[in-house]
Amino acid sequence: MAGRFIEVEGLGKRYETAAAGTPPALEAVSLAIDEGEFVAVMGPSGSGKSTFMNIIGLLDTPTSGAYRLNGRDVAGLSTDELAHVRNRVFGFVFQGFNLLKRITAAENVALPMIYSGASGSARRARAAELLAQMGLAPYGSAMPNRLSGGQQQRVAIARALANHPQLILADEPTGNLDTATSMEIMELFTTLNRETGVTILLVTHENDIAQYARRLIRFKDGHVVHDGPVTHEAAA
Ligand code: ADP
Repeated sequence: MAGRFIEVEGLGKRYETAAAGTPPALEAVSLAIDEGEFVAVMGPSGSGKSTFMNIIGLLDTPTSGAYRLNGRDVAGLSTDELAHVRNRVFGFVFQGFNLLKRITAAENVALPMIYSGASGSARRARAAELLAQMGLAPYGSAMPNRLSGGQQQRVAIARALANHPQLILADEPTGNLDTATSMEIMELFTTLNRETGVTILLVTHENDIAQYARRLIRFKDGHVVHDGPVTHEAAA
């Protein structure tokens, strides 16, 4: 029987470098996320959001508990399988865009497809298609530093979508953008989620941004202290 998309049970993380007596970065986190969900992750600084996102994105390992992805315990994945999942199942979007400066927008979008073995023409066609979808058709040959912050983030979103991921992991994607541009980016995520069914897990500090999601998970001191539908009250 196929399992759920994402399922964590009793997940915990204690950093070896943490000072004696400090509470774990994550403790006893149990939840499931189904395909097609749009989830906002909130909580004060130091509450465990990044630790949680890094574990879900297979960039870090928990020190206790289990994480099953598509029904499979990720602890059993080999290094190659982990790299494969990171490249094919996940798309990452960061606050600082993280585009490579010396290559064009289209080449940035095509980058994840190099590792997945697509041909040059297939990569170029997909990059052009994605840039058009992001409203950036004329900017494929532009260098990233010629683009506005909002445009750069749309290039980064196109790059995240390159390999048809199941999950977009976005870490404060609007943190460096003005309000109007932030709203445009959130509209874009909303449309992608609704039209392609891609699951979105998005960290934000801002209630206005969390309002675009349908579910809110709030962390405090490494624990989930709220998990439910986004309502005006819940995100306030
Ligand atoms: P948030 O993303 O909500 O700000 P983090 O997940 O970064 O929270 O941090 C959770 C806790 O773990 C904090 O107490 C933080 O200091 C600690 N922490 C995070 N990363 C490390 C690390 N690499 N080594 C030691 N402690 C860490």
